[in-house]
Amino acid sequence: MNPYLDDDLRALADQVRRFATERVAPGFQERDRTRVLDRTLMREMGALGFIAPELPERFGGLGTGCLAAGVIHEAIARADLSMSYINLLGSLNCQILAEHGRPEVVEPWLQRVTQGEALLALALTEPRGGSDAASLRLKMEPAADGSGDWLLNGEKTSISAADQADAAVVFARSGRVEDGARGVSALFVPLTLPGITRSRFDCHGQRAIGRGSLHFDNVRVPNSHLLGAPGAGFVQVMQGFDFSRALIGLQVLAVARQALDETWSHVGERQAFGKPLAAFQGVSHTLATLDTQVEAARLLCLQTLWLKDRGLPHTAEAAMCKWWGPQLAYDVVHQCLLMHGHGGYDRGPMEQRLRDVLGFQIGDGTAQIMKTIIARTRAGRAAVGV
Ligand SMILES: Cc1cc2nc3c(=O)[nH]c(=O)nc-3n(C[C@H](O)[C@H](O)[C@H](O)COP(=O)(O)OP(=O)(O)OC[C@H]3O[C@@H](n4cnc5c(N)ncnc54)[C@H](O)[C@@H]3O)c2cc1C
Repeated sequence: MNPYLDDDLRALADQVRRFATERVAPGFQERDRTRVLDRTLMREMGALGFIAPELPERFGGLGTGCLAAGVIHEAIARADLSMSYINLLGSLNCQILAEHGRPEVVEPWLQRVTQGEALLALALTEPRGGSDAASLRLKMEPAADGSGDWLLNGEKTSISAADQADAAVVFARSGRVEDGARGVSALFVPLTLPGITRSRFDCHGQRAIGRGSLHFDNVRVPNSHLLGAPGAGFVQVMQGFDFSRALIGLQVLAVARQALDETWSHVGERQAFGKPLAAFQGVSHTLATLDTQVEAARLLCLQTLWLKDRGLPHTAEAAMCKWWGPQLAYDVVHQCLLMHGHGGYDRGPMEQRLRDVLGFQIGDGTAQIMKTIIARTRAGRAAVGV
């Protein structure tokens, strides 16, 4: 029980948890091996209204608040963090498309995504770096034939679902490099357009969703696919990240909660020196400390979504969720693995969780960048200097 989740949200959480236990959890390890996202499950999630429910009904959503998206992310991630990327990429990209896309272009895609028929990627990072995103270089120029189309040339890298997504929100340099963030535009790009090639990396974790590169070689994108005004792309994505950062916090903390629950049971049963492991304070106090921190961090994430639902500022809170959640989740799963002894080190759910949560200490921005955002919000951009 907590003040953020009312009866409706708790009922929704129960419904998603039942689905996740019966349908998502059984394939958790198999998907890590095959590295294929299960599109049948994605369609089932869509049919149940689990993808981007916060979107208005005319876009295929249910018109719920963002807290509903949060409880769904938690329940799916608890069963498989990779599968909950469907929710994350859906909520993050659909918000950008719904707010900034031309209705005739984006509405059919929003319907397909919410129904679980399509998966979208978000392409910001480039080979020369991700933290300093405002200096990105993917070239976006008007086509010379006067058609109004745009031509894209260059590479995006480390993009989640690069080879599995159907379309992507792509950020490109339409202005001068010296203009920094103000020279960046966003385009909605179906990934079947001529001139796009894709590759897949051999990732440490999150293997069912995967990451890879997108190469653009004279890719022609109609002007109707521009998201917002030219040069406004960077501001748009930054607003979207305030949402996804709270959702990521809930995803990784749900993985930590599952690991803790399993480990509390394990240490209650397994004996050493004639007692259950839980009788040793080196074991139980360590778990109690981490359990306390997971509860607190989860409340921060829910509070951030609660602020978003009320249209209140939440940029610093979102950055707090994004650095604290993944770091804490990694520490929790690490300790849980150790408390399973040699068995925890075998290929299995605990070591997979450790690999899975680690990715979010980097993806969507590192802890250093999140702390800079918090400092900017508190002390002012001029004082922080970056
Ligand atoms: C699992 C995963 C999923 C991802 N998914 C996507 C995706 O879907 N789309 C996408 O666009 N990108 C994605 N990324 C890329 C990710 O956003 C970048 O890796 C991240 O922003 C860091 O950029 P970088 O790897 O180039 O590191 P760099 O920018 O080179 O940074 C390297 C190190 O230097 C530190 N550093 C840099 N600048 C500063 C500073 N000013 N102060 C202090 N420390 C600093 C960083 O914190 C980091 O530790 C994903 C990455 C991972 C691992």
